[in-house]
Amino acid sequence: MEFMILGTSSGMPTKSRNVSGYGLRKSAVKPWVMIDCGEATQHQVMRMPVSLYHLEAIFITHLHGDHCYGLPGLLSTAAMQSRQRPLTIVAPAEVLTFVNAAVVCSQMELGFELVLVDVTTLAPDFTTEHFAVSVHALSHRTASYAYSFTEREALFGKSARKVVIAGDNDEPALLKEAVQGASFLLHEATYTQAIAEKIATNPQHSYAAQVAEFAQASALPALVLSHFSARYLDFPTQRQLSLDDIEAEASVHYQGNLFIARDRDIYTLDEAGALSLTQRQRRFR
Ligand SMILES: [Zn+2]
Ligand SMILES: [Zn+2]
Repeated sequence: MEFMILGTSSGMPTKSRNVSGYGLRKSAVKPWVMIDCGEATQHQVMRMPVSLYHLEAIFITHLHGDHCYGLPGLLSTAAMQSRQRPLTIVAPAEVLTFVNAAVVCSQMELGFELVLVDVTTLAPDFTTEHFAVSVHALSHRTASYAYSFTEREALFGKSARKVVIAGDNDEPALLKEAVQGASFLLHEATYTQAIAEKIATNPQHSYAAQVAEFAQASALPALVLSHFSARYLDFPTQRQLSLDDIEAEASVHYQGNLFIARDRDIYTLDEAGALSLTQRQRRFR
């Protein structure tokens, strides 16, 4: 399997990070699925080895703008590229209303069928071409979900690999059952503990140590952290916060395979279910 990082920033983009978006596909096949679609996610897709043409379905974790504002532009581009095959969007009902409004209000002529599925009514046996998909409720300021993807056809003699990609969430333990047998979990780590405790209004996000402790207790073989607050810089000067702080905090609590996601990273899950970073782009200030 290939797991692609389309955006790692929380709330707003930074110069080096876009807002939330991820891609997943079975290795060596064209169809892929997207999880979350923050503004400008389509720009990130152009720089990855996948195309909108082969995008089969989009799964939105929750209605906050940094997870769904990219949908109208992406749909418009797909239409201009003469897409004909249906596209499925699984999302909270409000996001489906938003998508419909964008299509109507901008007179978007799609030319393909948009299959809109309310996440709360997703059939337990829902599948894409290559994955069986299930939904897990999380804890956030609004209804938020994790999606687990289990391959439909396991390799001969191997058990089916499963991965879990979570939306915004301040209670990682809610995923206890979902991550059983998973090869990796993608989870937000918006802050380090010190900053999380300083924020007066509770934005209901997780901090690095909290997710790492959960991953350790769940014996997860690999953990990918993302959705970092814009205050954590890629290129810190002295005394500024950086992604290294997130990594340092998480690595104290988690002894598995830890990854701090960067925009446009590509990870490969091998046949045995081991995750490795296979492509990281050079970043510019
Ligand atoms: Zn968010
Ligand atoms: Zn959110």
